[in-house]
Amino acid sequence: MHIVSFDDWFKREANNENICFLCGNQLDDKNKSDEHIFPKWILKEFNLWNVPLTLLNKSRFNYRSAIVPCCKKCNNTSLSDIEKEIKSGIDGGFDYFVDRVSRESIYKWCQLIFYKILYKENFLKENIKLKESKKIISEEQFANLKLNHLFLRSIDKDVEFVDFLPGSIFICKVKTSDLDKSLNFDYMDAVPEQCLAIRINDIGIIAILADAGLQELVKTEDYSKYTSHILAPIQFKNLFANCVYQQMLFRDPFKYKIEFKSSDKLSIERVPKDNFEGNVYEQGNSTDHSQLLASIFNCDPNQFYMGEGLTGSFFFDDNGAWKDRAFEDDGTIKNSVEYRI
Ligand SMILES: [Zn+2]
Repeated sequence: MHIVSFDDWFKREANNENICFLCGNQLDDKNKSDEHIFPKWILKEFNLWNVPLTLLNKSRFNYRSAIVPCCKKCNNTSLSDIEKEIKSGIDGGFDYFVDRVSRESIYKWCQLIFYKILYKENFLKENIKLKESKKIISEEQFANLKLNHLFLRSIDKDVEFVDFLPGSIFICKVKTSDLDKSLNFDYMDAVPEQCLAIRINDIGIIAILADAGLQELVKTEDYSKYTSHILAPIQFKNLFANCVYQQMLFRDPFKYKIEFKSSDKLSIERVPKDNFEGNVYEQGNSTDHSQLLASIFNCDPNQFYMGEGLTGSFFFDDNGAWKDRAFEDDGTIKNSVEYRI
């Protein structure tokens, strides 16, 4: 039995444009291909070819050029399989997607997009005109993604998660625009918290990639007061912000036990950390929550801060009833008090 260590798997995809971002194999003219960060079927359907994608440092590149190096084998087999599964799920609409696409596949697909963006950013300089400029993603930050990469390898290798999913997934129904189809796609992420949100047609997906599934376990019932409605884009964004805030309060009680079974097979087990004490989620406060909302909505935190323990939202009206907002609602309408810690 040939045992490959976790580090060996990761080492192969060190910052190098001549290796496949997924399997780490060397690329040459024969096996090299481009893998789009956002799959071509999305670019085509939502006409995003020339739409700029804003990076962490606020610089922009087009979706069209948002590609990472990938070998033909990964591109045409494991990656194309997962794209096919997600695409057919999304084409089927919200109910079909929820019923038919496995949570594991949704998780992998989200992890894949998140990872490809960071992988791409690892190649880009903060300022492409200055040669000595720091990379957008530091090597340290990239090293923190080792576990993401390991989870990702479940796409092309036999990786078994023993009785858990590495993250939480929330799926909600969202409103769509009849006027401009390209508005029916949106992507947002919070890199340090490893959270992302994808709005695609009437399906809204929020993924917390590295919480061992705990937010889903703890908050699904609470969030049903939002997810039982059809959300306007601004409400979907608000829910994403709340998920990110929850994750900012997270203290991981687990460590991961990795068992290599062969060069193509491993299992990952979630085990309690020794000496973990206290709560998994720290106590939140409205000052921090309002500040996060303000940075996501690009406005003044006072628009959300409603006094200690109360944070405004776009979900309810002044009487506490659900507020049905239009697709186009941009949030300039007064907030209602809602969030109680
Ligand atoms: Zn490959």
